[in-house]
Amino acid sequence: MARRFVGDRLVIASHNPGKTREIAELLAPFRVDVASVSDLGLPEPVEDADDFVGNALIKARAAAEGSGLPALADDSGLAVHALGGAPGIHSARWAGPGKDFMAAMNRIEQALDGRSDRAAHFVCVLALCWPDGHAECFEGTVHGQLVWPPRGGRGFGYDPVFVPNGHAATFGEMDPADKHAMSHRAEAFRQLVAACFEDG
Ligand code: IMP
Repeated sequence: MARRFVGDRLVIASHNPGKTREIAELLAPFRVDVASVSDLGLPEPVEDADDFVGNALIKARAAAEGSGLPALADDSGLAVHALGGAPGIHSARWAGPGKDFMAAMNRIEQALDGRSDRAAHFVCVLALCWPDGHAECFEGTVHGQLVWPPRGGRGFGYDPVFVPNGHAATFGEMDPADKHAMSHRAEAFRQLVAACFEDG
């Protein structure tokens, strides 16, 4: 049985304003007052775990310890099956310091080198951690196929090369509301809310 969130303040363990806003919107119905680690002036920890759960826990634990409040972290990425799951936890790093996702998508395409297996999935792990060290983790995935060349200017990151199974449009071409209804992040949030926030 997961520990329930009963307070009214939560720290979002992200320095990314887009992610912070999205998480704050998702938590709005639960009347939680949210602040980000940037608002609180907390430093970014080194994410050196070897999986999504480990990195989400590093971020959530550092924020909970630094703030004395429960903290929620999101760690996510794209796993390409024919590349043994790469870029995976290195998804942000493949775009380099300039966050050049066109270069990152090109790198995937070159690594695939004409292979016919173009299956991939996005992963999102949410970790909710309390100041006493207790943590709850939730994982969402969405499976699809990679296309080339990239299509669509919406979304972010690898969205323009990812077509979710059962659809024709890439995440980059879709209405954001449609993406948010089926994404890996939405799935992880549904689990988090059901386990820790909703009345039961
Ligand atoms: P993180 O902020 O360290 O978790 O890095 C996540 C990285 O994974 C992002 O920089 C993107 O490259 C990629 N990613 C995660 N979720 C998505 C998504 O919904 N669309 C496209 N790319 C994503």
